[in-house]
Amino acid sequence: MEKTNLLYVGKAKKVYETADKGLLIVDYKDDATAFNGLKKGTILGKGAINNRVTNHLMKLLQRHGVPTHLVEQLSERETLVKRVQIVPLEVIVRNIAAGSLAKRLGIPEGVKMSRTVLEFCYKDDALGDPMVNDDHILAMRFATEEELKTIRAYSHKINDVLSAYLQDLNIELIDFKLEFGKLPDGTIVLADEISPDTCRFWDSTSGEKLDKDRFRRDLGNVEGAYREILKRLLGE
Ligand code: UDP
Repeated sequence: MEKTNLLYVGKAKKVYETADKGLLIVDYKDDATAFNGLKKGTILGKGAINNRVTNHLMKLLQRHGVPTHLVEQLSERETLVKRVQIVPLEVIVRNIAAGSLAKRLGIPEGVKMSRTVLEFCYKDDALGDPMVNDDHILAMRFATEEELKTIRAYSHKINDVLSAYLQDLNIELIDFKLEFGKLPDGTIVLADEISPDTCRFWDSTSGEKLDKDRFRRDLGNVEGAYREILKRLLGE
């Protein structure tokens, strides 16, 4: 499958159309941004790592009954995916307080919560992805009641599968962001990526951060953290 025309240039990925109307090619970049695009940089090798990590985790989830947009990896940085209509929500799944939740609720990072927290944000860069609740989602028709129920159920399932898988690799899954899409027949599938750009991964023993927080907070050894995740997940 070949790229035809460029459909969209995002912060970390480019998306191309193909000769097949139902299929797109995602091309992962080394570009990194944080704080809604305010901080910019490059993480060498990130594109190739996020491509491989995302596909590896999506295959794992697929085997556990979570449908995804993944078709097949085409090259180091490129993957063929099903074209979906993206549900305009970012679903944040949180097991341990960190980042914006720790700040908003005034609790220290690292505190385990008594249950998993789901948050929804409306995908709109100009508005800074504002948090929305179920009423907003239904009133604004971002998703139907049925779709929202499916998205919630998949998000918890994904959390269970990934948390258990990562625990065996001595990685604690602190929180992560998901995006879902709709196939032409209305089926909800997991889309976008699951990578150190979109998850907080802490080493279970040392607590060392192995994710994009190293870039956001200038902690150093950003590339090393991404490579460590690739090594633990794919053994290379
Ligand atoms: N996240 C993301 N994209 C966003 C916002 C958040 O991938 O636009 C991920 C982030 O990497 C973290 C989780 O979602 O794993 C929760 O992020 P948080 O709301 O704490 O925001 P942050 O502190 O990253 O700004």
